[in-house]
Amino acid sequence: MKRSFIALTAAAIVLVFATAAVANHRDESINALVKQLGCEADVFTFDNVTAARSAFSPMNNSLYIGTEDDPSLPAEVADMIVLHEIGHCLQLQDGTIFVMDEVSLELDADRRSVDMACSIGRDGRSLQFLLWKWVNEKFGYVGDSKHGTIAERIAQADLATTCSPRHVEPQA
Ligand SMILES: [Zn+2]
Repeated sequence: MKRSFIALTAAAIVLVFATAAVANHRDESINALVKQLGCEADVFTFDNVTAARSAFSPMNNSLYIGTEDDPSLPAEVADMIVLHEIGHCLQLQDGTIFVMDEVSLELDADRRSVDMACSIGRDGRSLQFLLWKWVNEKFGYVGDSKHGTIAERIAQADLATTCSPRHVEPQA
C-alpha cells in the first residue's frame, strides 16, 4: 500500500516535471519568436488558458499568450495566434494602431501574421488556413464585429506579399 502510494507520487512528480518541461520549451519558442520579429513587449504565458484567448495589451505593452496543451492544435498553428498578437505589438511600435479602426487593425494583424510566418520560412498561408479551421471546428467561430468575418480574416493571407507568388496547382 505504502509502496504503491510512493510509486504513484513519483509518477505524479515525473508528470508534473514533464509538463513543466514542455511548457518551458513552448515559452522559450514564443519568446524567441517575439524577439526575432522585433516586438519589444513583455511576454506572459498561461498554461491553463487556450491559445485562442491570447491578447496584446497596448496599454501595458504586453503579450498574454495562452499555452494550454491541446492535441488538436499543433505548435506551428498555435504560433499563428502568437504572430497575430505580435502583429498588434508591431502596430503599436510603428504607429498603425493610432490610425486604423478596430476591424482594420485585426485584419492587418491577420495579414501580418501570415507575412511573418513566411518571413521565417514557414508556409504562412497554409498555417493560417489550418488555424481558422481549428478555431471554427473547436469554437464554432465564424468571425465577429470586432475582427471581421472569418472569410475576411482568411482572405488576408492573399495580401501577405512575403508569401507571394501564391501557390497555383499545376494543370494536369
Ligand atoms: Zn487581434
